[in-house]
Amino acid sequence: MSEGKQIWVLAEVLGGQVKPVSLEALHAGQTLGGELGATVTAVVATAPGAEIPEDVANCGVARVLHIQHAGLETFNSLALVEVLAPQVQSQNPEVVMMGATNHGKELAPALAARLGVGLATDCIEIHAEGGMLKARRPVYAGKAHITFQFGDTRPCILTLRPNVFRPGETPAGDAAPVETVTADIPENGLRLKVKEVVQAAGRKLDITEARIIVSGGMGMQKPENFQLLEELAEVLGAAVGASRPVVDNGWREYSNQVGQTGRTVSPDLYIACGISGAVQHLAGMSSSRCIVAINKDPNAPIFDVADYGIVGDVLEILPVMTAEFKKVLQK
Ligand SMILES: Cc1cc2nc3c(=O)[nH]c(=O)nc-3n(C[C@H](O)[C@H](O)[C@H](O)COP(=O)(O)OP(=O)(O)OC[C@H]3O[C@@H](n4cnc5c(N)ncnc54)[C@H](O)[C@@H]3O)c2cc1C
Repeated sequence: MSEGKQIWVLAEVLGGQVKPVSLEALHAGQTLGGELGATVTAVVATAPGAEIPEDVANCGVARVLHIQHAGLETFNSLALVEVLAPQVQSQNPEVVMMGATNHGKELAPALAARLGVGLATDCIEIHAEGGMLKARRPVYAGKAHITFQFGDTRPCILTLRPNVFRPGETPAGDAAPVETVTADIPENGLRLKVKEVVQAAGRKLDITEARIIVSGGMGMQKPENFQLLEELAEVLGAAVGASRPVVDNGWREYSNQVGQTGRTVSPDLYIACGISGAVQHLAGMSSSRCIVAINKDPNAPIFDVADYGIVGDVLEILPVMTAEFKKVLQK
């Protein structure tokens, strides 16, 4: 067990690889660790025998805590709470943080409720002031930001918005020691068992974690035209997003929906195609680093938040963009 103050960062491992958002959380944990005088432990919870990806141990953390349990073959938030809570209670980390992924959004509140401690979700800034932890997050569909200060109970639990806490170059260092703990919970003591996970067919890139998103609205006119977005996405290595009416019409799955009642995204590049820019859509994407809008209406509100605007017919512009990007990127 590690001595002194600790920050625990839950690293999500999928198919033997650590999720980029977990590397971001590990990076944020180390920055915060510097402010709090705490060491960082990367926590990986898996079924017995799973390998720990090298980048988890090599990213500058003090140790890796590998918690194993047969109930963790697939993601199961209730099993994770059962497995994590006793470890947290015995090792007393100051902070437990993780990415605001689908899994993190389910696990963090369950863990906070189980431990009876505070939780700040979808944070875009965290820092320590006079030993107190503060976290900032958007509220009211991104129209305002709120800063939380945690009270005295520990640990403070946080989820971090993907694509915000970007790691710089990680200096090559020694691999952190891995401590393996086998959780002692009878399998029939778990209230929920995942029997099967069925992956959606097709593109696997989750829009909340994508660095580039090409997103389509009602201006795409019919579902077949989303093929133009798929082709551009293929060339750019992007994910395809959508506005709500597109999803309501059944043209795209709900997991593609960007906005207040969909997903919140912060990619490097968001290309909005035939999207008007209603506030409920902007709530989900206005923190993108660069926004390009294509719309035939020069007065469309999306142009108010766009860094670059193209006024014209998206169905004519998309094939040209795809061809030009292909020339440049596939040289
Ligand atoms: C409580 C609530 C929650 C909501 N949550 C969400 C949400 O999460 N996400 C979301 O997106 N919306 C949400 N909405 C809906 C939102 O208010 C808008 O209705 C929606 O975002 C509009 O989608 P759109 O821009 O695709 O369609 P439209 O508003 O119909 O805009 C289509 C745009 O395409 C342009 N266009 C048309 N043809 C072409 C062409 N050939 N070439 C180029 N441009 C063209 C038009 O000029 C227009 O600007 C919510 C609404 C409510 C009330």
